[in-house]
Amino acid sequence: MVTSPLLTKSLAELTDWVEAQGQPRYRGKQLHQWLYEKGIRSLAEVSVFPKAWRESLQDYPIGRSSIDVCTTAPDLTRKYLLRLQDGLIIETVGIPSAKRLTVCVSSQVGCAMDCTFCATGKGGFFRNLSAHEIVDQVLTVQNEFQTRVSNVVFMGMGEPLLNLPNVVKAIHCLNQDVGIGQRGLTISTVGLPQKIQQLAQHHLQITFAVSLHASNQALREQLIPSAKHYPFEQLLADCRDYVAITGRRVTFEYILLAGVNDHPQQAQELAQALRGFQSHVNLIPYNPISEVDYQRPSEARIQSFSEALTLQRVAVSVRYSRGLQADAACGQLRATRAPQDPVLA
Ligand code: SAH
Repeated sequence: MVTSPLLTKSLAELTDWVEAQGQPRYRGKQLHQWLYEKGIRSLAEVSVFPKAWRESLQDYPIGRSSIDVCTTAPDLTRKYLLRLQDGLIIETVGIPSAKRLTVCVSSQVGCAMDCTFCATGKGGFFRNLSAHEIVDQVLTVQNEFQTRVSNVVFMGMGEPLLNLPNVVKAIHCLNQDVGIGQRGLTISTVGLPQKIQQLAQHHLQITFAVSLHASNQALREQLIPSAKHYPFEQLLADCRDYVAITGRRVTFEYILLAGVNDHPQQAQELAQALRGFQSHVNLIPYNPISEVDYQRPSEARIQSFSEALTLQRVAVSVRYSRGLQADAACGQLRATRAPQDPVLA
């Protein structure tokens, strides 16, 4: 039988677990604190536990990955390559600022969506991450920066809504056990039929972002292959329902690709589509990846697009991705196998 790792267990579950091991129930609270606040990697580290017991449990699975490589960009953003139990490697990014520490987590190893402008899809899809593999990414960054994580964005590798049960489980754990407020947690999705409704049914108070990237169906299909199965109007209707069900507004992400979707007329068309919608548009100037020849628009062009939206009373902000020089910015993350992985030998 495969033993399930301790990470993602709640206080009540950990209390039951220590009791089943023949220990007093109060050790459940100690274990919870050592797991989620101190970020232990082995039960042998829990010095408040009796020595003989913790040593007998030193190999008990906790669910932590190991750090393979860390790259730091000049803006102090750090990209980690984390090695999972099965040897697969995922990327996680820690983004520090004056008041925050944000972690950009992966929800899958690789991605099956194959969006034309994104590096992750170029490497294909390997598998979904378990909930503990998502929480581990946050604890790793928290440990490494020696600072509490304030925000988590599901904007690393993968499509979170194709791994919804594990993503929702991780969100509850990050909220209740790691102690991050739901509003500090953001899911970003390409949008898939039925999936937005399914997420809405969880009534989370998280921040919800949809990668729209185009002002009409034809252009969206050109950039995002999966959009062929999801008409633009249906996507927007599902987002309206999401607002009605959760009471939270939607952020629309819009990558800016020079000469493709950055014309002021396209800003007009976008504003028209979003009329009367409780939303916010987040413009993301394209971050270059090697496989494609899209270009980032000039600063003037980015500003005119943004102003055209503001004139139409659409709330707008521009996201200048951090970590560009470490290939850690939006769209630059890739899945790889560890070179020493015996599966590859
Ligand atoms: N699968 C999720 C998360 C993707 S990453 C989604 O599709 O929303 C977060 C954001 O970065 C998405 O809006 C994604 O479209 C965008 N992105 C992907 N590649 C990019 C690139 N090369 N430059 C800028 N943004 C990019």
